[in-house]
Amino acid sequence: MGSANALTNGHGMHPLFSFGVISDVQYADIPDGHSFLGVPRYYRHSMLVLQRAVQSWNNHKKLNFAINFGDIVDGHCPKDQSLHAVKKLVGEFDKFNGPVYHMIGNHCLYNLPRDKLLPLLKIPNLGGSGHAYYEFSPTPDYRFVVLDGYDISAIGWPDDHPNTLEALRFLREKNPNSDKNSPDGLRGLHRRFLMFNGGIGKEQMEWLDGVLQDATKMKQKVIVCCHLPLDPGASSKEALLWNYDQVMDVIHRYNCVKVCIAGHDHEGGHSIDSHGIHHRVLEAALECPPGTDAYGYIDVYDNMLSLVGTDRMKSTEISWPDVCEVVTTKPVLTSPIMSKLMPVSMNNHNDHFILTWLPRLVAGGVGPAMAAAARLNQTTLQHENCKEHMQQGNVQIFKVCIKAAKFMIKMNGST
Ligand SMILES: [Zn+2]
Repeated sequence: MGSANALTNGHGMHPLFSFGVISDVQYADIPDGHSFLGVPRYYRHSMLVLQRAVQSWNNHKKLNFAINFGDIVDGHCPKDQSLHAVKKLVGEFDKFNGPVYHMIGNHCLYNLPRDKLLPLLKIPNLGGSGHAYYEFSPTPDYRFVVLDGYDISAIGWPDDHPNTLEALRFLREKNPNSDKNSPDGLRGLHRRFLMFNGGIGKEQMEWLDGVLQDATKMKQKVIVCCHLPLDPGASSKEALLWNYDQVMDVIHRYNCVKVCIAGHDHEGGHSIDSHGIHHRVLEAALECPPGTDAYGYIDVYDNMLSLVGTDRMKSTEISWPDVCEVVTTKPVLTSPIMSKLMPVSMNNHNDHFILTWLPRLVAGGVGPAMAAAARLNQTTLQHENCKEHMQQGNVQIFKVCIKAAKFMIKMNGST
């Protein structure tokens, strides 16, 4: 059941490796229900989605591994069945002919404490601390970082654990509601300060920094995986990691991270942030009406990823320019606009944007960026404004680049 959403990918090349993806299975042996917002949830059917995912990954024959983006079991699962349910689900994943990497979500932690959950999900328990972050390298060129989004969290740790206490302190400070899962009265991005989310602690942040430093040295490209989304552009505000901004500050210090993949926000999403990093939030298996699916696989190439989704999981092409390609994009580098943009950009240490974004946008064919350009609805480029924007920081630079690119696409198109 379910048909892969066809797209032309990889430009005829063979992928370096491929892996299966699925998120938010949230199985429970209970009748169908609804989310807080009234979205239907199919608790028993989600097991069938998982079974079809594994079947399809096995039929594919060339997938090297699979990643489960968390929330394997639902919080409504009767607690005397939690252990049995998680074992059953892991058993379904184990029918895949390859390794499966799991991560924990809030719903997993409603069912079982970390010390039970981590061994069941075969999550390496670094130093026996109960932390669930880890990394792996399927090829010399790529590294995967799996973050533990419930590191600082009011769920999953023992009640008197320092991380529980820190999370409760944090929630008391940020969310005045007596029900800490309610965003009532919270405004804008503050709506993420809810008990069903969590944050990355100091130790994990230092670990992440070290891994990215190492990956940079080894010239590896990094794919960051976390149950909780890391970019407001790809997710509802209520689903974001508490300190997504601090995590992205660390990631933005390096050039090695190309994409961040998450679950948790069941609707799914895709964005490209101010530094050109893609954020893809995967559609939930739980919300597939009977007979439909939400899973996929990702083909990984040198400078792109291609997510081939089934049914409700949208296919997505995720690409980034490689440096040689950029330097040889002569029409861009010699254009009058470029010569205006370049010195300003260099002075502000923002050459990354000009060098990576502009040529790529002008080259066209990058769907999301083009769509962003169209949304900006600006057809003219005023150089004075442009200069001013440049000095206001990265987000503005990005917008200016899109404007410039749109202008140049028009120019190129007419010659
Ligand atoms: Zn979740």
